[in-house]
Amino acid sequence: AAGMSVPATATAAVNPYQDPGLPVATRVADLLSRMTLDEKIGQMTQAERGSVGNSDVTTYRLGSVLSGGGSAPSPNNATSWANMYDGYQNAALATPLGIPMIYGVDAVHGHNNVVGATIFPHNIGLGATRDPALVQQIGRAVAEEVTGTGVDWNFAPCVCVARNDRWGRTYESFGELPEIPSSMTSFITGTQGATLNGPASVLATAKHYVGDGGTVNGVDQGDAQLTETELRAVHLPPFRAAVERGVGSVMVSFSSWNGSRLHGNRYLVTSVLKDELGFTGFVVSDWNGVDQIDGALGLSAVDVRTAINAGIDMVMEPEAWRQFIDLLRAEVQAGRVPLSRVDDATRRILTKKFELGLFERPLADRTYTSTVGSGAHRALARQAVARSQVVLKNGGNILPLATGGGKIFVAGRSADNIGHQSGGWTISWQGSSGNITPGTTILQGIRDTVGSATTVTYNQNGSGIDSSYRAAIAVVGETPYAEGQGDRTGAMGLDGADLNTINTLRASGVPVIVVLVSGRPLDISSQLSGWNALVASWLPGTEGQGVADVLFGLTQPTGRLPVTWMNSAGQQPINDGDGKTPLFPYGYGLTYESAADTSPPTAPGTPTVSNVTSSSVNLTWTASSDNVGVTGYDVVRVQGTTETTVATPTTNSASVTGLAASTAHTFAVYARDAAGNRSARSAAVTATTGGGGGENGTCKVTYTVNDWGGGFSANLTIANTGTSA
Ligand code: BGC
Repeated sequence: AAGMSVPATATAAVNPYQDPGLPVATRVADLLSRMTLDEKIGQMTQAERGSVGNSDVTTYRLGSVLSGGGSAPSPNNATSWANMYDGYQNAALATPLGIPMIYGVDAVHGHNNVVGATIFPHNIGLGATRDPALVQQIGRAVAEEVTGTGVDWNFAPCVCVARNDRWGRTYESFGELPEIPSSMTSFITGTQGATLNGPASVLATAKHYVGDGGTVNGVDQGDAQLTETELRAVHLPPFRAAVERGVGSVMVSFSSWNGSRLHGNRYLVTSVLKDELGFTGFVVSDWNGVDQIDGALGLSAVDVRTAINAGIDMVMEPEAWRQFIDLLRAEVQAGRVPLSRVDDATRRILTKKFELGLFERPLADRTYTSTVGSGAHRALARQAVARSQVVLKNGGNILPLATGGGKIFVAGRSADNIGHQSGGWTISWQGSSGNITPGTTILQGIRDTVGSATTVTYNQNGSGIDSSYRAAIAVVGETPYAEGQGDRTGAMGLDGADLNTINTLRASGVPVIVVLVSGRPLDISSQLSGWNALVASWLPGTEGQGVADVLFGLTQPTGRLPVTWMNSAGQQPINDGDGKTPLFPYGYGLTYESAADTSPPTAPGTPTVSNVTSSSVNLTWTASSDNVGVTGYDVVRVQGTTETTVATPTTNSASVTGLAASTAHTFAVYARDAAGNRSARSAAVTATTGGGGGENGTCKVTYTVNDWGGGFSANLTIANTGTSA
């Protein structure tokens, strides 16, 4: 938890809630018993820093303040953030009960509202790394930078499963199948630390619950028209994983499910998330999201009543927070929102505040301020950038480029542009162009890599190139956007300016390497044959050096597509397993050694069986290693000499479903490497599935009583007459 101690007031009587030696539940119960209705409602209220002064926090007993995208103190640096934070916190501590506020930000790819912070790749790039351990380290680094500015709560990770690349938030998704977003909940562990009370632990948020990435046509805040089975199979698993990792908060999605707004959906928010998944943290609404429930503009009594009764615990009401307070008070007084619901919400929020240690250390911990944009964090980000690059084409093995000698030409709108390579959610909500925060552009990374023996010429539109150059690198793609402003309808190709740049380079006859800086796949199939090489760089953030590391072979490319790459925009939505023919499939990615590599990966370890049901088993095995990287596994069912592939996971575990009940099934696993080589088979393991549906089977009980006068005996026969035992 963030925080410096405040000096204890020698005269203050210590109430149980102020005693750090007592269990959190005891402290919460004691504090709750001392609170008025208005104090409870205050805890449930989150206001935006731009519309709340320090004295408002005291007067209205506000429980939380946030910075919306790009909302920052002036000057925008770590120290003034910490000062701002302490101002709000001291105002909260000045209330009779002295309950600390909690401050939330969207540090979704680094502490991205703060000038000078390390900006990491957006989630789609991290998904390409397939490396949850790396993402956990990133979660830790971000938490340290966030702590250094006083902030205690991060509205991240976004664990959405983006199913349609038209969606403007596709880049906030780790991948189109639930497996990658689920595994990347490791970010939560990194953010929250081993315990919320630990050093630089920050509360994480799994968002946006649920189905935000599944809306019709990929429309932001749209309607996910899915059966419950589909919703549960595709969009729910990352939230289940997040809850298992102890995520402290969950943010509700703006979107609807079959026409019902999530913000008012009691079944999904309370029955599924809290009751079924066992989420014990608190649920926060999205920005004015509650206002939309009744379909009319502005916040109404119906909005407030429906949202709180659905199970939302804290309401992000950036500007209309006073109205929220008044409306909720009236609803409770009228008996339309039970006090028990208000108590439950307050209890959930206070529990996290106690667990974070906010009561003991409420003020900014400035020992972490120097971590903001630190060399160590930038080195981690550079590594993540390199790991996120996906080499999609490498004609004539032109990559990796040699570092020594000759001339290289660099062009394109995103070659020398920190703003473009960082994308949306960077310094401002929508992001922007140019030197918006310190970092290394891709051009600078190339210059730093090649050294003085190689001449690097840069011209944004490619003019001036001639055949004396050995390679041309075009850094092109999308310019920044966030949320619905990035939704794309119609064509999804490159911008005309980018195509002109590439064509200018091509006309010189010099081989052209296209580095695509974009938040999602673009429709490039009609141009690809004219490009010698293509690298998907996603939105790498401030450390452009990581892109150069892969272009010049300092790092071997291991990134693999976390999304299916369309062959044409008309295929959207296109996802793995849907039978459409993509340009590049999910999981695709080249390595430099693949053509030459013939050595197979090491064999996986013997699978361990768990969670055996009547129709499924879970298998886990030790991962295989390989010089060009392991890209996946083939899980086979073995029957004599016959093998049937039953799962092809990309990580070292699988759930095998659809098995016959009450049967011994034998499984083994192969590993595959990036060059397509298969390992030797693992040792086999046998698991016997259970009987099916016993409780509901029909059975017949027959008994005969024999009375012989001198006592009696009974013959009892139980016969199964149902379809299952
Ligand atoms: C976004 C959320 C974000 C919130 C606060 C909303 O517009 O949907 O992802 O956490 O703003 O900035």
